[in-house]
Amino acid sequence: MAFEGLAEKLSNSFKKLKSKGKLSDADVKEAMREVRLALLEADVNYKVAKEFTNKVTERAVGSEVMESLTPGQMVVKIVNEELTGLMGGSEERLKMPAHPPAVIMMCGLQGAGKTTHAAKLAYQLKSQGHRPLLVAGDIYRPAAIKQLQVVAEKAGAPVFEKGTQDPVITAREAVKHARDYGNDYVIIDTAGRLQIDEPLMEELRRIKAEVEPTDILLVVDAMTGQEAVNVAKTFDELLDITGVILTKLDGDTRGGAALSVKAVTGKPIKFAGTGEKLSDLEVFHPDRMASRILGMGDVLSLIEDAQLKLDEKAAAKTAERLMNNKLDLNDMLEQFNQVRKMGPIKGILSKLPGIGNKVDDMEIDDRVLDRNAAIILSMTKYERSHPDVLDASRKRRIAAGCGMKVEDVNRLLNQFKQTQKLMKQFGGKGKRRRMPMNLP
Ligand code: GDP
Repeated sequence: MAFEGLAEKLSNSFKKLKSKGKLSDADVKEAMREVRLALLEADVNYKVAKEFTNKVTERAVGSEVMESLTPGQMVVKIVNEELTGLMGGSEERLKMPAHPPAVIMMCGLQGAGKTTHAAKLAYQLKSQGHRPLLVAGDIYRPAAIKQLQVVAEKAGAPVFEKGTQDPVITAREAVKHARDYGNDYVIIDTAGRLQIDEPLMEELRRIKAEVEPTDILLVVDAMTGQEAVNVAKTFDELLDITGVILTKLDGDTRGGAALSVKAVTGKPIKFAGTGEKLSDLEVFHPDRMASRILGMGDVLSLIEDAQLKLDEKAAAKTAERLMNNKLDLNDMLEQFNQVRKMGPIKGILSKLPGIGNKVDDMEIDDRVLDRNAAIILSMTKYERSHPDVLDASRKRRIAAGCGMKVEDVNRLLNQFKQTQKLMKQFGGKGKRRRMPMNLP
């Protein structure tokens, strides 16, 4: 995950500050020197890092911060606010014109994740009840149209394509098509190049002039660090983009691009791509990012993720059974499935306050969930809803059926009994209580 190194270094410098009862100007300056180095190592633009630490120092030194009871924490608070500001302050959403459709033009270099993110965006818009139309505007790469069709199908969004016809004409026709068929968002996937060149820019400018996009989103790869920032700067100068989608944040351990794009280009990061799946797209929230960097967790994103990925109906059914003390192993299996949908457990834990990057040192095996699910799946339907009948011979059969030991079956059953016991204490008919998550 992004910001690992930075988060650790910042946390070390702040630990020193927090351990002191009173801070001198020299203490703050020393800490800010360390912060600047940490930012540079995270591949943050040199000027941005310098201005950032100057600002924090200016706000902290000699002010009432130093007189406060917890000066160390006050400095962290200032850093948090300034980090948030550096990344744009508050989140920036897609624009919506007075007369739909909203036209989003996606652009960027080859391999940055343009096609994937056009589909991710369509998927997210669909889940919000919109009717996006994807447009195949990359006519040069032979497989580009096919690739868009494949991801679009997964996203459940239609594709408008006219083969190798001039993409400017295709874009114009697509907008008309959207008007005629009630699509409220048109997402145009455009051609990419290995580097910025004039013919590409000329084509993008022509599409822009033709369809007057509501948003021009530049897709850049976070893993390329400052290079991504340079690309953003050039594209913005030539096209006047409205925002950036920062992709592959899941593989970016440094975070330099995320921290510098807004400061260098003046354009906000609107979305972040955090994986290869269609659901791995987050609205970029500068305040939550700052909290993550400072190890304060990002519970809000976790909740949103849960809302997006979990099956509410299944959860409600389990809750209902729980309140009536009817919890059985089918419900437990359902819980495992739901947790699995949220992605790797480390990803979930890393968003919790106080955990953050510490997950890297934890030994968490996602397969435990799968193994437990396999045990339940090798029981008969009757056994799952009547776990009391599970005697020694049935347990041996179940263990053999899923290739595990009887101890493993017993461990799972004990876990289940504990959950049941807890439920009896908390639940009871008619009382609405929260269900504890029974992770292995
Ligand atoms: P395009 O040439 O700009 O259209 O790029 P693609 O959409 O074809 O993406 C290039 C590669 O990057 C593909 O293998 C994608 O699966 C991968 N990719 C795109 N976005 C992400 C992301 O957010 N995280 C990860 N890990 N991979 C991504």
